[in-house]
Amino acid sequence: MKIFVINAGSSSLKYQLIDMNTEKVMAKGLCERIGIEGSKLTHKPAGKDEYVVESPMPTHTAGIKLVLDALCDEKHGVISSLSDITAVGHRVVHGGEMFSKSTLITEEVKKALEVCSEFAPLHNPANLIGINAIEEAMGKDIPQVGVFDTAFHQTMPAKAFMYGIPYKYYENDKIRRYGFHGTSHRFVSAEAAKLLGKPIEELNIITVHLGNGSSVAAVKGGKCIDTSMGFTPLAGMLMGTRCGCVDPAIIPILMDKYNLSTKEINNIMNKESGVYGISGVSSDFRDLATAADEGNARAQLALDMFMYQTKSYIASYAAAMGGVDAIVFTAGVGENSPDVREGAIEGMEFMGIKMDKEKNKVRGTVDITAPESKTKVLVIPTNEELMIAKDTKDLVK
Ligand code: ADP
Repeated sequence: MKIFVINAGSSSLKYQLIDMNTEKVMAKGLCERIGIEGSKLTHKPAGKDEYVVESPMPTHTAGIKLVLDALCDEKHGVISSLSDITAVGHRVVHGGEMFSKSTLITEEVKKALEVCSEFAPLHNPANLIGINAIEEAMGKDIPQVGVFDTAFHQTMPAKAFMYGIPYKYYENDKIRRYGFHGTSHRFVSAEAAKLLGKPIEELNIITVHLGNGSSVAAVKGGKCIDTSMGFTPLAGMLMGTRCGCVDPAIIPILMDKYNLSTKEINNIMNKESGVYGISGVSSDFRDLATAADEGNARAQLALDMFMYQTKSYIASYAAAMGGVDAIVFTAGVGENSPDVREGAIEGMEFMGIKMDKEKNKVRGTVDITAPESKTKVLVIPTNEELMIAKDTKDLVK
Protein backbone atom coordinates (compact mmCIF):
# COMPACT_ATOMS: atom_id res chain seq x y z
CA MET A 1 0.00 0.00 0.00
CA LYS A 2 1.37 3.41 -1.02
CA ILE A 3 0.25 6.50 0.87
CA PHE A 4 0.79 10.04 -0.34
CA VAL A 5 1.32 12.47 2.55
CA ILE A 6 0.75 16.19 2.07
CA ASN A 7 1.58 19.14 4.29
CA ALA A 8 0.15 22.20 2.55
CA GLY A 9 1.11 25.68 3.71
CA SER A 10 -0.13 29.02 2.42
CA SER A 11 2.50 29.22 -0.34
CA SER A 12 4.27 25.88 -0.04
CA LEU A 13 3.50 22.19 -0.15
CA LYS A 14 5.63 19.40 1.28
CA TYR A 15 4.98 15.80 0.35
CA GLN A 16 6.16 12.24 0.80
CA LEU A 17 5.13 9.04 -0.94
CA ILE A 18 5.51 6.21 1.57
CA ASP A 19 5.42 2.48 0.87
CA MET A 20 3.56 1.18 3.91
CA ASN A 21 4.76 -2.39 3.40
CA THR A 22 8.28 -1.28 4.25
CA GLU A 23 7.50 2.14 5.80
CA LYS A 24 10.18 3.53 3.44
CA VAL A 25 9.94 6.90 1.74
CA MET A 26 9.78 6.37 -2.04
CA ALA A 27 9.97 10.06 -2.86
CA LYS A 28 9.65 13.38 -1.11
CA GLY A 29 9.76 16.99 -2.08
CA LEU A 30 8.60 20.53 -1.82
CA CYS A 31 6.69 23.06 -3.92
CA GLU A 32 7.75 26.59 -3.05
CA ARG A 33 6.34 30.01 -3.88
CA ILE A 34 2.91 28.76 -4.94
CA GLY A 35 0.94 31.73 -6.27
CA ILE A 36 4.08 33.88 -6.31
CA GLU A 37 6.59 34.47 -9.09
CA GLY A 38 9.52 32.04 -9.16
CA SER A 39 7.67 28.84 -8.14
CA LYS A 40 9.78 25.73 -7.93
CA LEU A 41 9.30 22.02 -7.34
CA THR A 42 12.17 20.08 -5.77
CA HIS A 43 11.50 16.36 -6.10
CA LYS A 44 13.73 13.78 -4.40
CA PRO A 45 13.06 10.20 -5.52
CA ALA A 46 14.77 7.58 -3.34
CA GLY A 47 17.92 6.25 -4.98
CA LYS A 48 17.72 8.69 -7.90
CA ASP A 49 18.96 12.21 -8.58
CA GLU A 50 17.09 15.24 -7.29
CA TYR A 51 14.80 16.72 -9.94
CA VAL A 52 14.00 20.44 -9.96
CA VAL A 53 11.15 21.94 -12.02
CA GLU A 54 10.95 25.70 -12.26
CA SER A 55 7.48 26.34 -13.56
CA PRO A 56 4.64 28.74 -12.71
CA MET A 57 2.31 27.39 -9.99
CA PRO A 58 -0.55 29.84 -9.79
CA THR A 59 -2.48 27.51 -7.48
CA HIS A 60 -1.95 24.54 -5.15
CA THR A 61 -3.75 22.41 -7.76
CA ALA A 62 -1.09 23.36 -10.31
CA GLY A 63 1.62 22.43 -7.79
CA ILE A 64 0.02 19.08 -6.99
CA LYS A 65 -0.31 18.28 -10.71
CA LEU A 66 3.43 18.89 -11.15
CA VAL A 67 4.16 16.64 -8.14
CA LEU A 68 1.93 13.84 -9.46
CA ASP A 69 3.59 14.12 -12.89
CA ALA A 70 7.01 13.88 -11.22
CA LEU A 71 5.93 10.80 -9.22
CA CYS A 72 4.87 9.02 -12.45
CA ASP A 73 7.69 10.39 -14.64
CA GLU A 74 9.63 7.73 -16.52
CA LYS A 75 13.01 9.08 -15.47
CA HIS A 76 12.39 10.75 -12.11
CA GLY A 77 9.30 8.89 -11.00
CA VAL A 78 8.81 6.05 -8.52
CA ILE A 79 5.40 4.68 -9.59
CA SER A 80 3.98 3.77 -12.98
CA SER A 81 0.56 5.38 -12.56
CA LEU A 82 -1.50 7.33 -10.04
CA SER A 83 -3.63 4.25 -9.43
CA ASP A 84 -0.63 2.92 -7.43
CA ILE A 85 -1.52 5.45 -4.72
CA THR A 86 -4.07 3.97 -2.31
CA ALA A 87 -4.90 7.06 -0.28
CA VAL A 88 -3.78 10.55 0.65
CA GLY A 89 -3.08 11.76 4.20
CA HIS A 90 -3.08 15.47 5.01
CA ARG A 91 -1.52 17.28 7.91
CA VAL A 92 -4.23 19.61 9.19
CA VAL A 93 -3.18 22.17 11.76
CA HIS A 94 -6.38 22.83 13.70
CA GLY A 95 -9.20 20.43 14.45
CA GLY A 96 -10.69 22.51 17.26
CA GLU A 97 -12.79 20.49 19.70
CA MET A 98 -14.39 18.66 16.81
CA PHE A 99 -11.56 16.28 16.01
CA SER A 100 -9.85 14.20 18.67
CA LYS A 101 -8.68 11.61 16.14
CA SER A 102 -7.64 11.44 12.51
CA THR A 103 -10.61 11.23 10.19
CA LEU A 104 -11.65 10.32 6.65
CA ILE A 105 -12.38 13.49 4.70
CA THR A 106 -16.03 13.87 3.67
CA GLU A 107 -18.00 16.92 2.56
CA GLU A 108 -19.16 17.27 6.17
CA VAL A 109 -15.58 17.15 7.49
CA LYS A 110 -14.56 19.80 4.97
CA LYS A 111 -17.29 22.09 6.32
CA ALA A 112 -16.06 21.48 9.87
CA LEU A 113 -12.52 22.33 8.77
CA GLU A 114 -13.80 25.63 7.44
CA VAL A 115 -15.25 26.35 10.87
CA CYS A 116 -11.87 25.50 12.45
CA SER A 117 -10.16 27.93 10.05
CA GLU A 118 -11.23 30.68 12.43
CA PHE A 119 -8.63 29.30 14.87
CA ALA A 120 -5.80 28.88 12.35
CA PRO A 121 -6.43 31.44 9.63
CA LEU A 122 -2.99 31.04 8.08
CA HIS A 123 -2.91 27.24 8.05
CA ASN A 124 -6.31 25.54 7.84
CA PRO A 125 -7.39 27.25 4.58
CA ALA A 126 -4.17 25.98 2.95
CA ASN A 127 -4.87 22.46 4.27
CA LEU A 128 -8.36 22.60 2.75
CA ILE A 129 -6.98 23.86 -0.56
CA GLY A 130 -4.62 20.86 -0.53
CA ILE A 131 -7.55 18.49 -0.01
CA ASN A 132 -9.54 20.08 -2.83
CA ALA A 133 -6.51 20.14 -5.11
CA ILE A 134 -6.10 16.36 -4.70
CA GLU A 135 -9.79 15.88 -5.53
CA GLU A 136 -9.32 17.92 -8.67
CA ALA A 137 -6.16 16.13 -9.72
CA MET A 138 -7.00 12.56 -8.69
CA GLY A 139 -10.81 12.48 -8.64
CA LYS A 140 -13.32 12.30 -5.81
CA ASP A 141 -12.89 8.57 -5.25
CA ILE A 142 -9.38 8.68 -3.80
CA PRO A 143 -9.72 8.30 -0.01
CA GLN A 144 -8.29 11.27 1.89
CA VAL A 145 -7.58 11.47 5.60
CA GLY A 146 -7.03 14.50 7.83
CA VAL A 147 -4.49 14.17 10.66
CA PHE A 148 -4.69 17.06 13.11
CA ASP A 149 -1.90 18.75 15.08
CA THR A 150 -4.39 19.40 17.85
CA ALA A 151 -6.10 15.98 18.05
CA PHE A 152 -3.71 14.24 20.46
CA HIS A 153 -4.16 17.01 23.03
CA GLN A 154 -7.95 16.71 23.17
CA THR A 155 -7.64 14.39 26.18
CA MET A 156 -6.42 17.27 28.39
CA PRO A 157 -8.67 17.87 31.39
CA ALA A 158 -10.44 21.23 31.67
CA LYS A 159 -8.15 22.32 34.51
CA ALA A 160 -5.26 22.17 32.04
CA PHE A 161 -6.96 23.60 28.96
CA MET A 162 -8.97 26.49 30.42
CA TYR A 163 -7.66 30.04 30.68
CA GLY A 164 -8.46 32.32 33.59
CA ILE A 165 -10.66 34.67 31.56
CA PRO A 166 -14.47 34.95 31.71
CA TYR A 167 -16.06 31.55 31.02
CA LYS A 168 -18.27 32.98 28.29
CA TYR A 169 -15.26 33.25 25.96
CA TYR A 170 -14.89 29.49 26.15
CA GLU A 171 -18.62 28.89 25.72
CA ASN A 172 -19.13 31.38 22.91
CA ASP A 173 -15.76 31.52 21.21
CA LYS A 174 -14.06 28.25 22.19
CA ILE A 175 -11.06 30.16 23.54
CA ARG A 176 -8.99 27.50 25.36
CA ARG A 177 -5.67 25.69 25.12
CA TYR A 178 -5.58 23.30 22.15
CA GLY A 179 -1.88 22.50 21.83
CA PHE A 180 0.01 21.65 18.64
CA HIS A 181 2.69 19.24 17.34
CA GLY A 182 0.28 16.52 18.52
CA THR A 183 1.27 14.10 15.76
CA SER A 184 4.90 14.38 16.83
CA HIS A 185 4.15 14.02 20.58
CA ARG A 186 1.99 10.96 19.82
CA PHE A 187 4.63 9.39 17.57
CA VAL A 188 7.59 9.80 19.91
CA SER A 189 5.68 8.78 23.04
CA ALA A 190 4.59 5.57 21.31
CA GLU A 191 8.15 4.96 20.11
CA ALA A 192 9.46 5.55 23.64
CA ALA A 193 7.09 2.92 25.05
CA LYS A 194 8.31 0.46 22.40
CA LEU A 195 11.92 1.25 23.24
CA LEU A 196 11.27 0.73 26.96
CA GLY A 197 9.38 -2.48 26.20
CA LYS A 198 6.40 -1.46 28.33
CA PRO A 199 2.75 -0.77 27.52
CA ILE A 200 2.27 2.97 27.09
CA GLU A 201 -0.75 2.72 29.43
CA GLU A 202 1.70 2.12 32.28
CA LEU A 203 4.05 5.01 31.54
CA ASN A 204 4.35 8.70 32.37
CA ILE A 205 6.24 10.32 29.50
CA ILE A 206 7.28 13.93 28.87
CA THR A 207 7.81 14.61 25.18
CA VAL A 208 10.01 17.60 24.39
CA HIS A 209 9.67 18.76 20.78
CA LEU A 210 12.33 21.42 20.20
CA GLY A 211 12.50 22.85 16.68
CA ASN A 212 11.74 26.19 15.11
CA GLY A 213 8.47 25.84 16.95
CA SER A 214 8.82 24.11 20.31
CA SER A 215 6.39 22.45 22.68
CA VAL A 216 6.43 20.07 25.62
CA ALA A 217 3.69 17.56 26.46
CA ALA A 218 2.79 15.45 29.49
CA VAL A 219 1.66 12.03 28.28
CA LYS A 220 0.14 9.91 31.06
CA GLY A 221 -0.80 6.37 30.11
CA GLY A 222 -0.63 7.29 26.42
CA LYS A 223 -2.96 10.29 26.82
CA CYS A 224 -1.92 13.92 26.77
CA ILE A 225 -2.83 15.65 30.03
CA ASP A 226 -1.08 18.98 29.40
CA THR A 227 0.98 20.74 26.78
CA SER A 228 2.79 24.05 26.52
CA MET A 229 1.33 25.54 23.34
CA GLY A 230 -2.05 27.12 23.71
CA PHE A 231 -4.95 28.54 21.76
CA THR A 232 -2.34 29.18 19.08
CA PRO A 233 1.23 27.89 18.52
CA LEU A 234 2.55 31.19 19.89
CA ALA A 235 2.22 30.10 23.52
CA GLY A 236 4.52 28.08 25.76
CA MET A 237 8.30 28.35 25.77
CA LEU A 238 10.17 30.92 23.71
CA MET A 239 11.00 29.55 20.26
CA GLY A 240 13.01 30.44 17.14
CA THR A 241 11.14 33.69 16.45
CA ARG A 242 8.01 33.27 18.65
CA CYS A 243 7.88 34.85 22.09
CA GLY A 244 6.04 32.06 23.90
CA CYS A 245 4.18 33.00 27.09
CA VAL A 246 4.67 36.58 28.23
CA ASP A 247 2.77 38.72 30.71
CA PRO A 248 -0.38 39.44 28.65
CA ALA A 249 -0.41 43.05 29.88
CA ILE A 250 2.74 43.71 27.84
CA ILE A 251 0.73 43.52 24.61
CA PRO A 252 -1.64 46.49 25.14
CA ILE A 253 1.17 48.49 26.75
CA LEU A 254 3.42 48.09 23.69
CA MET A 255 0.53 48.72 21.32
CA ASP A 256 -0.35 51.99 23.08
CA LYS A 257 3.21 53.18 23.51
CA TYR A 258 4.32 52.53 19.91
CA ASN A 259 0.94 52.95 18.23
CA LEU A 260 1.07 49.40 16.87
CA SER A 261 -1.76 47.71 15.01
CA THR A 262 -2.84 44.17 15.92
CA LYS A 263 -1.09 43.00 12.75
CA GLU A 264 2.15 44.70 13.78
CA ILE A 265 2.17 43.36 17.34
CA ASN A 266 1.32 39.90 16.01
CA ASN A 267 4.25 40.13 13.66
CA ILE A 268 6.60 41.20 16.46
CA MET A 269 5.50 38.31 18.69
CA ASN A 270 5.57 35.69 15.92
CA LYS A 271 8.46 36.74 13.71
CA GLU A 272 10.76 39.07 15.66
CA SER A 273 10.85 37.50 19.11
CA GLY A 274 12.10 34.24 20.62
CA VAL A 275 15.80 33.40 20.57
CA TYR A 276 16.11 35.56 17.47
CA GLY A 277 14.67 38.61 19.21
CA ILE A 278 16.79 38.09 22.33
CA SER A 279 20.08 37.38 20.54
CA GLY A 280 19.67 39.66 17.53
CA VAL A 281 21.77 36.98 15.80
CA SER A 282 19.57 34.23 14.38
CA SER A 283 16.70 31.87 15.04
CA ASP A 284 18.95 28.97 14.05
CA PHE A 285 20.40 27.21 17.07
CA ARG A 286 23.63 26.38 15.25
CA ASP A 287 24.28 30.11 14.67
CA LEU A 288 23.40 30.85 18.29
CA ALA A 289 25.83 28.24 19.57
CA THR A 290 28.61 29.63 17.35
CA ALA A 291 27.91 33.20 18.47
CA ALA A 292 27.76 32.19 22.12
CA ASP A 293 31.08 30.34 21.78
CA GLU A 294 32.58 33.53 20.35
CA GLY A 295 31.47 35.40 23.45
CA ASN A 296 28.17 36.92 22.32
CA ALA A 297 26.37 37.39 25.64
CA ARG A 298 22.89 37.84 24.15
CA ALA A 299 23.21 34.63 22.12
CA GLN A 300 24.18 32.86 25.36
CA LEU A 301 21.22 34.47 27.15
CA ALA A 302 18.84 33.26 24.42
CA LEU A 303 20.17 29.72 24.80
CA ASP A 304 20.00 29.93 28.60
CA MET A 305 16.38 31.10 28.46
CA PHE A 306 15.49 28.32 26.04
CA MET A 307 17.04 25.62 28.24
CA TYR A 308 15.63 27.11 31.45
CA GLN A 309 12.09 27.24 30.07
CA THR A 310 12.37 23.67 28.76
CA LYS A 311 13.46 22.55 32.23
CA SER A 312 10.59 24.43 33.89
CA TYR A 313 8.05 22.60 31.72
CA ILE A 314 9.67 19.24 32.37
CA ALA A 315 9.61 19.78 36.14
CA SER A 316 6.05 21.07 36.07
CA TYR A 317 4.77 18.12 34.03
CA ALA A 318 6.64 15.62 36.21
CA ALA A 319 4.66 17.08 39.13
CA ALA A 320 1.40 17.06 37.14
CA MET A 321 1.83 13.32 36.44
CA GLY A 322 3.13 12.38 39.89
CA GLY A 323 6.48 11.29 38.47
CA VAL A 324 8.02 10.63 35.09
CA ASP A 325 9.31 7.39 33.58
CA ALA A 326 10.83 8.88 30.46
CA ILE A 327 11.75 12.22 28.95
CA VAL A 328 11.96 12.19 25.16
CA PHE A 329 13.78 14.84 23.14
CA THR A 330 12.82 15.25 19.49
CA ALA A 331 12.73 17.60 16.43
CA GLY A 332 15.52 19.71 14.89
CA VAL A 333 17.07 21.03 18.11
CA GLY A 334 16.00 18.18 20.40
CA GLU A 335 17.52 15.58 18.07
CA ASN A 336 20.67 17.48 17.12
CA SER A 337 21.82 19.63 20.02
CA PRO A 338 23.50 17.72 22.88
CA ASP A 339 24.20 21.08 24.57
CA VAL A 340 20.54 22.11 24.71
CA ARG A 341 19.54 18.65 26.00
CA GLU A 342 22.22 18.80 28.66
CA GLY A 343 21.20 22.30 29.73
CA ALA A 344 17.54 21.34 29.93
CA ILE A 345 18.22 18.35 32.20
CA GLU A 346 21.04 19.79 34.28
CA GLY A 347 20.41 19.98 38.01
CA MET A 348 17.46 17.58 38.00
CA GLU A 349 19.29 14.83 39.87
CA PHE A 350 17.20 15.68 42.95
CA MET A 351 14.20 14.46 40.94
CA GLY A 352 16.01 11.29 39.92
CA ILE A 353 16.74 12.57 36.42
CA LYS A 354 20.27 12.39 35.08
CA MET A 355 21.76 11.94 31.63
CA ASP A 356 24.98 10.31 30.55
CA LYS A 357 27.02 13.08 28.93
CA GLU A 358 29.00 10.70 26.71
CA LYS A 359 25.91 8.89 25.40
CA ASN A 360 24.31 12.30 24.88
CA LYS A 361 26.83 12.99 22.09
CA VAL A 362 25.57 10.09 19.95
CA ARG A 363 23.07 10.70 17.12
CA GLY A 364 19.83 8.98 16.14
CA THR A 365 17.46 7.06 18.41
CA VAL A 366 19.43 6.74 21.62
CA ASP A 367 19.01 6.13 25.33
CA ILE A 368 21.12 8.80 27.04
CA THR A 369 20.17 7.89 30.61
CA ALA A 370 22.87 7.83 33.29
CA PRO A 371 22.99 4.47 35.13
CA GLU A 372 21.80 5.99 38.44
CA SER A 373 18.86 7.88 36.89
CA LYS A 374 15.33 6.75 37.85
CA THR A 375 13.88 8.43 34.78
CA LYS A 376 14.92 7.37 31.28
CA VAL A 377 16.19 10.15 29.05
CA LEU A 378 15.77 9.37 25.36
CA VAL A 379 16.37 10.98 21.98
CA ILE A 380 13.90 9.80 19.34
CA PRO A 381 13.73 11.38 15.87
CA THR A 382 10.17 12.42 15.13
CA ASN A 383 8.41 11.31 11.96
CA GLU A 384 5.11 13.10 11.56
CA GLU A 385 4.77 12.00 7.94
CA LEU A 386 4.99 8.32 8.88
CA MET A 387 2.41 8.85 11.63
CA ILE A 388 0.09 10.53 9.10
CA ALA A 389 0.64 7.65 6.66
CA LYS A 390 -0.09 5.08 9.41
CA ASP A 391 -3.34 6.80 10.40
CA THR A 392 -4.33 7.04 6.75
CA LYS A 393 -3.60 3.35 6.21
CA ASP A 394 -5.62 2.38 9.31
CA LEU A 395 -8.61 4.47 8.24
CA VAL A 396 -8.77 3.24 4.66
CA LYS A 397 -8.03 -0.42 5.42
P1 ADP B 1 10.37 23.06 12.30
O1 ADP B 1 9.70 23.55 13.54
O2 ADP B 1 10.50 24.08 11.24
O3 ADP B 1 9.87 21.71 11.82
P2 ADP B 1 12.80 21.60 12.90
O4 ADP B 1 12.25 20.60 13.83
O5 ADP B 1 13.25 21.16 11.56
O6 ADP B 1 11.86 22.85 12.77
O7 ADP B 1 14.03 22.31 13.65
C1 ADP B 1 14.72 23.36 13.06
C2 ADP B 1 15.78 23.82 14.05
O8 ADP B 1 16.68 22.74 14.29
C3 ADP B 1 16.59 25.00 13.57
O9 ADP B 1 16.46 26.07 14.49
C4 ADP B 1 18.01 24.49 13.60
O10 ADP B 1 18.86 25.41 14.15
C5 ADP B 1 17.95 23.31 14.53
N1 ADP B 1 19.04 22.39 14.24
C6 ADP B 1 19.22 21.61 13.18
N2 ADP B 1 20.40 20.95 13.27
C7 ADP B 1 20.99 21.36 14.41
C8 ADP B 1 22.21 21.05 15.08
N3 ADP B 1 23.10 20.18 14.56
N4 ADP B 1 22.47 21.66 16.26
C9 ADP B 1 21.59 22.52 16.79
N5 ADP B 1 20.41 22.84 16.22
C10 ADP B 1 20.12 22.28 15.05
